[in-house]
Amino acid sequence: MQFTSLGLDERLMDGISSMGYETATPVQAQVMQPILDGRDIIASAQTGTGKTAAFLLPIIHKLLTIPHDAHQINALIIVPTRELAIQIAETMEGLGYFTDVSCIAVYGGGDGSSFVTEKKALSSGVDMVVCTPGRMISHLNMGYVKMSDVRYLVLDEADRMLDMGFHDDIMKIIGYLPKQRQNLLFSATMPPRMRDLARKLLHNPLEISIAISRPPEAIVQKAFVVYEPQKMPLIKFLLQEKDYTRVIVFCSKKQAVKQLAAALKKARFSVEEIHSDLDQTTREQVLQDYRNRRTKILVATDVLSRGIDIEDIELVINYDVPHDGEDYVHRIGRTARAAGTGSAYTLVSEMEQRNFARIEELIDKTVEKAPIPEDLGPAPEYAPQQRRSKPGFGGGGQRNGGGSRQGGGHRQGGNGQHRSGGNGGRGPRNHGAPPHPHKKPDSN
Ligand code: AMP
Repeated sequence: MQFTSLGLDERLMDGISSMGYETATPVQAQVMQPILDGRDIIASAQTGTGKTAAFLLPIIHKLLTIPHDAHQINALIIVPTRELAIQIAETMEGLGYFTDVSCIAVYGGGDGSSFVTEKKALSSGVDMVVCTPGRMISHLNMGYVKMSDVRYLVLDEADRMLDMGFHDDIMKIIGYLPKQRQNLLFSATMPPRMRDLARKLLHNPLEISIAISRPPEAIVQKAFVVYEPQKMPLIKFLLQEKDYTRVIVFCSKKQAVKQLAAALKKARFSVEEIHSDLDQTTREQVLQDYRNRRTKILVATDVLSRGIDIEDIELVINYDVPHDGEDYVHRIGRTARAAGTGSAYTLVSEMEQRNFARIEELIDKTVEKAPIPEDLGPAPEYAPQQRRSKPGFGGGGQRNGGGSRQGGGHRQGGNGQHRSGGNGGRGPRNHGAPPHPHKKPDSN
């Protein structure tokens, strides 16, 4: 589908071309017209499908063409993480570059000065606010934020927000909004509690499903079945196998991230860590260095597995088995995005075998079990049914192999999506910038 068929404002068409978008992605093709028509939407679409522009473009168009009070907040986008908030505000900045629609990202973790900047923008009025729930509530509690003009509400990565325990915060924020508004809900998965939330919030919604529950075929998936103590020597071996320039290693716990990053640094790998214990500035700097290829390996908690758009990752390593199939798909979906190929390796300890077997079931694929180098000693047999919580070769029993969440139902495979433009050759994005209303809110 061509963007021209939507009759979008000229200034927006200029923004679209400058981002390098030529044709609409499937989610854009399906949701943009209904959003322009004023429909509520519930869409299952993951990051990478172009969902951000799918909701931003119609909202910006409406802000440009329907008269409204520019001194009030008109659109509110609630997201789970600061990284996603920044990313959406940046996409907004790109798409809305030739317009005077103003936007601010409001998220926790910054210093006192960012709170003051946010307060200023929120009290003087800004067209669009992209926020994380906790931070928005802190502002709302202070009494200077007026929400009475919000006409568009977006919940992005709504399943992630529920996973992170934001349900009550979201409902509290929504309590401040006028009843008459358009609601757009985007979520990678649709577990029953998401349906409950949708029932509460949406009015006669159009339901759209673009998401994938299976990783793209282009990703070469391998599992290394090991005893827990073999993981460290194995990962060093894997990282040396090729001259990788962009690798992400995922660990479920931040303690594990810190230990692994320290060990890899000691072994002289070009590595940085990212997790929620780092302050905001450091996290942004780490991401920036990784984007700019100053760091080759990023060791991360799941914070990064969704919502962050970094192209050309050659290898994703799961240092531990993710909790469920959706997390697995999200983690390994970091690779093979732009380049079209990539590898995803998962290190599976004895205690994790059952979990891994469940993931294989969910993605409907038997992942190749690759041999480990001989000098690491004998590896355990892959026998998930017999594994339960039997301690292995000093495996330590850190994980409960039998107690994972079971992901929601299957969805159809096939990814039905494309991304070609990246950020349209605009050069590296500035993730180091503090939250800012990037255009003057009252300039129209
Ligand atoms: P998202 O799923 O919103 O995180 O978008 C993923 C990536 O696709 C981002 O880098 C977008 O800039 C890019 N993108 C979004 N829409 C298009 C499009 N129509 N054509 C090319 N790239 C796009």
